[in-house]
Amino acid sequence: MMAVVKAGAYGHGLEEVARVFADAGVAFLGVANVGEARRIAQAGIECRIYLLGASWSEERREIVERGWTPCISSLAEAQDFDARARAQGKILAVHLAVDTGMGRGGFVAENVPTVLAELQQLRGLYIEGIGSHLPSADEDEEFTRGQFAQFARIIEELGGEATFAWRHLANSAGLLGYAPQHCNLARPGLMLYGISPLAAQQGMLRPAMTLKSRVTLIRTLPAGHGVSYGRSFITTRPTRVATIGMGYGDGYPRHVSGHAPRVFVRGLYFPIIGRVTMDQMMIDVTEAPDIIEGDEVELFGPHIPVQEVAQKADTIAWHVLTGITARVVRRYV
Ligand SMILES: *Cc1c(COP(=O)(O)O)cnc(C)c1O
Repeated sequence: MMAVVKAGAYGHGLEEVARVFADAGVAFLGVANVGEARRIAQAGIECRIYLLGASWSEERREIVERGWTPCISSLAEAQDFDARARAQGKILAVHLAVDTGMGRGGFVAENVPTVLAELQQLRGLYIEGIGSHLPSADEDEEFTRGQFAQFARIIEELGGEATFAWRHLANSAGLLGYAPQHCNLARPGLMLYGISPLAAQQGMLRPAMTLKSRVTLIRTLPAGHGVSYGRSFITTRPTRVATIGMGYGDGYPRHVSGHAPRVFVRGLYFPIIGRVTMDQMMIDVTEAPDIIEGDEVELFGPHIPVQEVAQKADTIAWHVLTGITARVVRRYV
């Protein structure tokens, strides 16, 4: 397994989470860039690091020095790595990236046989793996099946499984919804954090992150009183309003406003009223006189799926999780 820990381990905390996966014995930690790789190395975590994105030329000396594993998308990139590896008297393990439909990186499939022959001439490189990526494994089954078949064909064309020590294609949706052929490395991200990109498989997983805050203030407003910026909510009755100490400055998406967002307090759901502000938001607790200042509030977690918050904000769970800002204290249980 390559545990994908990019974007601060999907907002869960890069070093803390990377250490857990490294201790669990994953083959690689997948990061976006050199900045994240450095943080893992500086934390003293021992595990191979795979760079999912491309690097600048100036970063490549360090990549070779530290033995991080890049994926290769162009000959120029390969030649630069090769020259730097030979200058350091090293052979750098790299993976050949193939573009089977993502359109973000890698060699276009039809060029791959020629490219591999050229890469194999570079003495400073060892072509250790081959990988590709799925753009729509959670929404287009036919296209994704085609990609799995194409990836298998490419590997056969290049001499079969023996040509590459590592062969990888599937992200979370690819792993949960399909049966990869010729692959021996999985690249899950989202599902490692307990969130399934496919609704049918959510029951197999338990969300790792709960986002919580507290009620900071409770007041009763008269009928006809506006709540929050833009006064998009006006009370229609005397309303007991609880203010919560969290807002979009913490990464809770402001765009949920107007789509009936809710929070969970003392066993019940309450609607967020008016717009989410930077540091605070308001809920209507008129029906629950027992709620008091200091009560814990779940924004998402065991009672509110993060997917629900994402959907109400017209975005995806990956975006909500990675958007939780540094101001939110992470507690690890
Ligand atoms: C982010 C990423 C993954 C993990 O994707 P999930 O959908 O979170 O499982 C896998 N592979 C690549 C190349 C990625 O960029």
